Amino acid sequence: MKNKIVIIGAGPAGLTTALFLAKAGIPHTVLEKSTFPRDKVCGESYDGKVFHTLKRLHDAWPAQLIRAGILTPLWEYRLNHLPHWEIPVSFSSDHTPRLQGRRSDLDQALLQHLLSYNLTEWRPNTQVISVERGQTDYRLNIHGQPNILAELVVYAGGGATTKLNSDVGIPKRKNGLIYSRIHLQVDNDQLPVQPINIRFLRNPIPACLVICPLPGGYYNIGLGIRKKDYIHLDGNLNDWLNRLVDEEIDRLPTGIFVHRMNKPSGAHVQLHHYSNRLSGLGWVVVGSAAVEVNPVTGMGVGNAMRSGELAAKAIIRAIANKENLFMAGYSSYASSLKRSLRSEIRFSRILTALQFHASWLGHTMPFIWKSRRIQRWLQQPDVVSNFLNPQHYWRK
Ligand SMILES: Cc1cc2nc3c(=O)[nH]c(=O)nc-3n(C[C@H](O)[C@H](O)[C@H](O)COP(=O)(O)OP(=O)(O)OC[C@H]3O[C@@H](n4cnc5c(N)ncnc54)[C@H](O)[C@@H]3O)c2cc1C
Repeated sequence: MKNKIVIIGAGPAGLTTALFLAKAGIPHTVLEKSTFPRDKVCGESYDGKVFHTLKRLHDAWPAQLIRAGILTPLWEYRLNHLPHWEIPVSFSSDHTPRLQGRRSDLDQALLQHLLSYNLTEWRPNTQVISVERGQTDYRLNIHGQPNILAELVVYAGGGATTKLNSDVGIPKRKNGLIYSRIHLQVDNDQLPVQPINIRFLRNPIPACLVICPLPGGYYNIGLGIRKKDYIHLDGNLNDWLNRLVDEEIDRLPTGIFVHRMNKPSGAHVQLHHYSNRLSGLGWVVVGSAAVEVNPVTGMGVGNAMRSGELAAKAIIRAIANKENLFMAGYSSYASSLKRSLRSEIRFSRILTALQFHASWLGHTMPFIWKSRRIQRWLQQPDVVSNFLNPQHYWRK
């Protein structure tokens, strides 16, 4: 049987596309190679776009997810290079909060909400091996299962360098970090809720340690290192993470019990990536396969959800205009995504270039961060648009 709309990948991008289609009453199929709930190595801290996309899906949803202990709102984080400097950044609680929560829980909540519409053919354990364009439809070759035909393919397979990604034209990742993550659980109520702590290290290794509090007394501890430093690393990044975690635990007051919930596992983080092939005939690319643009925070879930929402809008429009889904070009999706993320893409390019090509930056960073002006700037709710707004620099 031919499926009209097939979404490959059930991460935040694929699920958000499906959720907006379901909200508009449009049936579709979601193919996912894993079984759910599934873990995904991630810093598990999400920007305001996640909050607003959830709200547009269902006004009460952010509050419900917070009440259910799936997400925690936070208005404070701390950047530091101890013992030299520390910058607390806090927003007023009138501003959109950052949300923290385990990816397995968040993705599962998105899936459950989607299935409640009864418009999704949900196919976990279904890995697409290749996609071929025919005369009237796409043929999706599935590992160990019969082929699937689709009029429109929404590709939401994430940004990893895989054969399918390169076959469908997703560029290889260039600049990036190697990242290792572990989950800890601190016996509940023993520690007050901490802000997110982003710690720049020179010693013992040039890396960035991110400590992110999660609901239920969990902590996500991640260690990221630039690829070019990684190749000179003495030993394994997972072992370094374990060692740094031991040091953190030693610093805690006695009587606080910390459990390691899993072994460190690693991933590659793309700092700046933007695909030029966002849409084509019967074809749309969403999520980190399409765009990953925040090198300061590494936050990509907000962009993934935003792109899913915009793709769904373009599909809904094509259906309303009675276009042939296989022949429609969805160019309004590509242009609206570029418009929506333009300032972040520029910001990302500049910062990535600085991080990777300016060796002087390492020495000047402490002075830059310490400046009062930078501190005030960091405390603005929308750092990116301020960075790109010339008037911001003229203001006294
Ligand atoms: C180490 C690390 C830390 C990060 N930290 C953060 C953070 O703190 N905050 C944040 O906002 N973002 C973070 N990101 C970015 C974030 O993880 C991504 O932006 C986000 O997951 C993108 O969502 P997606 O839906 O596009 O892709 P994914 O979440 O990768 O989902 C893709 C889905 O497609 C499935 N799939 C892939 N190939 C196939 C196939 N061939 N057939 C069927 N299914 C397939 C996969 O199993 C997966 O479920 C981090 C990324 C990394 C690597």
